[in-house]
Amino acid sequence: MLKNLINLIYPQTCFGCKNLLLKNEKTLCSDCLHELPKTYHHNIFENDLTKKFYGIIPIEFGASFLYFKSYGIVKEIIHNLKYRDKQEIGTLLGNLYAYELKEVIEQNNITEIIPVPLHPKRLKKRGYNQVTTFCVSLSENLNIPLNESLLVRNLYTETQTHKDKVARQYQTNLFEARFSEQDCGKHFLLVDDVITTGATLEKCANALLKIPNSKVSIVTIAFTQS
Ligand SMILES: [Zn+2]
Repeated sequence: MLKNLINLIYPQTCFGCKNLLLKNEKTLCSDCLHELPKTYHHNIFENDLTKKFYGIIPIEFGASFLYFKSYGIVKEIIHNLKYRDKQEIGTLLGNLYAYELKEVIEQNNITEIIPVPLHPKRLKKRGYNQVTTFCVSLSENLNIPLNESLLVRNLYTETQTHKDKVARQYQTNLFEARFSEQDCGKHFLLVDDVITTGATLEKCANALLKIPNSKVSIVTIAFTQS
């Protein structure tokens, strides 16, 4: 009753196109849902994501759910998820993607889901990691535990411009896996929102691969097409 009243005063709009949502629609309208630019990476072993890591870091499999462009639905929903606290977008996308990933996840015996951690300062300012609800949704649908404390981001200042030796060293140690014996021998699914160059994911994967007998696979919500 109250919810209907609120809907009447503040009608819910689609986070993709801003059109009013119908009564049975939630988060995204059916048009936006239908038009999501899926990559179908999970059906192809050698896809645009896995190719980014060739010869750089060994990953078991990799896939992005959607294509990210400089305009359109995906840009809009990622912006809403990242900066406007619309965390339900992560939940919806996680539910949709879990369904598609199920087979490849089972084939690869993934044992734990690891989100790329935010810088603590940014986490404090934003109040949430934008990839958390997506990870929770994958975890619940695929029945794989989520581990948010294994991989940590150290408090270094990120510099993209300083290419001196010290800065490079800091960059390499930006992420660290704080592991114990029980974390050994696992297959981690590393998850981020958008992959562009892959540099962040590479550092995270490197940190996880320092754990004895570990394997790493990578999933992102979106893939930036260059
Ligand atoms: Zn829409």
